[in-house]
Amino acid sequence: MTELPPLVNPPVRTLMGPGPSDIHPRVLAALARPTVGHLDPYYLQLMDGLQGMLRSVFHTRNRMTFAVSATGSAGMEAAVVNLVEPGDAMVVCVNGVFGERMADVAARAGAAVTRIDKPWGDVFEPDDLKPVLERTRPKVVGIVMAETSTGAWQPIEEIARLTRAHDGLLVVDTVTALGGIPVDVDGWGIDVAYAGSQKCLGCPPGLAPITFNERALQAVNARKKKVQSWYLDVSLLASYWGQERVYHHTGPINMSYALHESLRIVHEEGLDACHARHMRHHRALKAGLAAIGIGYAAREGHQLPMLNAVRVPDGVDDARVRRGLLERFGIEIGGGLGAFKGKVWRVGLMGYTARAANVLLFLGALEQLLREQAYAFAPGSSIAAANDAYL
Ligand SMILES: *Cc1c(COP(=O)(O)O)cnc(C)c1O
Repeated sequence: MTELPPLVNPPVRTLMGPGPSDIHPRVLAALARPTVGHLDPYYLQLMDGLQGMLRSVFHTRNRMTFAVSATGSAGMEAAVVNLVEPGDAMVVCVNGVFGERMADVAARAGAAVTRIDKPWGDVFEPDDLKPVLERTRPKVVGIVMAETSTGAWQPIEEIARLTRAHDGLLVVDTVTALGGIPVDVDGWGIDVAYAGSQKCLGCPPGLAPITFNERALQAVNARKKKVQSWYLDVSLLASYWGQERVYHHTGPINMSYALHESLRIVHEEGLDACHARHMRHHRALKAGLAAIGIGYAAREGHQLPMLNAVRVPDGVDDARVRRGLLERFGIEIGGGLGAFKGKVWRVGLMGYTARAANVLLFLGALEQLLREQAYAFAPGSSIAAANDAYL
């Protein structure tokens, strides 16, 4: 047998992209704890704890609040395939990559999809939806709260009210939102919301928190045909996550430890304090970037704190800056996707990444790389402006 090389130590990065974000050492340590069986009383108790903490971050009392054993996109699939039967009308709001993805998932599930498109970086107003809801009377409406491709912060409350008034079920993508900005599932009347472990919850990728309210579960019960996906069928998952504990699939034990620990960290800090921290570091970063002439891609007043999509200045080589950040400073940021390819940088301040040390490190590194490309600005001014914002 040939000898296989051992896993070489992964580099330690500062993850300031669109996710995954930096992982707290306590969460990494949780991953290495002993694996138990997925029906072990210890694990069942851990599942209860996870569900309780997820209910409080989602602001919900929904019984069916759990984590799908896969990444955020599986949360999206789970929301859509459970609610949609072939031929059902679904309206999807598209102003970036993840709205696009939801429209694709819905069409694959057989929905009669009506898209409402807005320019990238913009957000939806209730009036954008109203005529479409009146005309198509959709069973389901899908919208992204934190569009990670554009950095736009979509207000949900009025759109939830409007959807309810038209007897629709509202699905909200809170993959990047959860833990970074307030999400009020019960207060706003969201029927299904899903998230991902690796964004503002500060856990590695691999789990998708999700919550279904009773209206959504009634719609699943009233289906004429079985849910097409066995793995994501919430009626089967209810027997595993509910009191019966019937085997469905093998729970990802160690990932559950990690999510449990990351949620404990969020709760120790306090949800409000956690949101305020994301906002504080966003303001410092924004002030720093403004001082060197770098502005945001998303509409003013609707910019996400945890995902800063900023315009690459004219004449600056996008890829060269990102390569320099990674190779010389160990900092990962995201490039632009789709319509924003080559035009924006996506600087994440999610979860454990949202710290002053990272904001100042990034601005310092960026200044050095921009000076090498002869981009004109007052040296040191981004750091001074960020520090002013902190003080
Ligand atoms: C990251 C992300 C997803 C997809 O999550 P994965 O974990 O990559 O599958 C979906 N929606 C939004 C808004 C995201 O930011």
